[in-house]
Amino acid sequence: MTKFVETLYDSYGQAFHIDEVLFENKTDHQHLLIFCNAKFGRVMSLDGIVQTTEKDEFVYHEMLTHVPMIAHGHVAKVLIIGGGDGGMLREVTKYEQITHITQVEIDQQVIEMCKQYLPNHSQGAFDDPRVNIVIEDGCEFVKLADDQYDVIISDSTDSIGPGEALFRHEFYAGCKRCLSPGGILVTQNGVAYMQQDEVTTTAGYLKTLFDDWHFFAAAVPTYVGGIMTFAWATDNPELRRTDLGTLGNRFEAWGIKTRYYNPEVHYGAFALPQYVLEAIEKRDNEYHKKFSP
Ligand code: SAM
Repeated sequence: MTKFVETLYDSYGQAFHIDEVLFENKTDHQHLLIFCNAKFGRVMSLDGIVQTTEKDEFVYHEMLTHVPMIAHGHVAKVLIIGGGDGGMLREVTKYEQITHITQVEIDQQVIEMCKQYLPNHSQGAFDDPRVNIVIEDGCEFVKLADDQYDVIISDSTDSIGPGEALFRHEFYAGCKRCLSPGGILVTQNGVAYMQQDEVTTTAGYLKTLFDDWHFFAAAVPTYVGGIMTFAWATDNPELRRTDLGTLGNRFEAWGIKTRYYNPEVHYGAFALPQYVLEAIEKRDNEYHKKFSP
């Protein structure tokens, strides 16, 4: 029985038994591997790093989609950066009120192979008539795009290889210019305990660009090491404070079916542990300021 050992960290790594290799190739941008594992189903890795698995992908795709979508409340146009497996697109296309979705993915082969070997991720979402797929570097795209979006979701790899460009100040500045007034940017921002410098660096960039920025979190089993952080940035501070009743009304009214997300989880996801608040220099926790007697 061969094993896949993740190489994201030098001195630590999770391992998967490979029951069957479904696809393996060096694309123009990265090493792409899709294999079967008894515990997590079909698994996709890029450059030796687990990107997504059939069994636990719902946590990540639901949180990175529904938190901004339901907080915003009036989304018509969405931009997805990365997301070649199609899981984010599946969640975004659940919203009938969305009129247009652009997805900018650097690696065409990731889309093609995930359509073929991970069909449960996209579930046909790539064929949704509202979707426009652009094969390009997301950092370049947001620098020059002349369209604006109500929600931008950066569903990137880690800050390694082609993904490194999606963690630069210029990328966040490009997203800012592509956001419509009151729009929300959310990004995959690594496992806080294991990649704390990534959280600190992103926070440093966002605070120079947006009126309101923070992180929310969820534990995704195969993103090992604890909670995964998602960056949140907008020029409308009210959106992060959308009350639980409003979140619940929208969730019910729109009939969005989920397995992880619900309004209470949404509301609680913005509560961060002290070590993360320290890392983003929000030591004076807003919660205690707001609720201290
Ligand atoms: N859920 C995963 C995670 O949290 O690590 C991300 C999954 S998704 C497969 C990541 C996608 O980002 C891949 O399809 C990869 O090709 C794409 N990507 C990496 N760098 C990119 C860039 N600069 N522009 C656009 N897409 C990029």
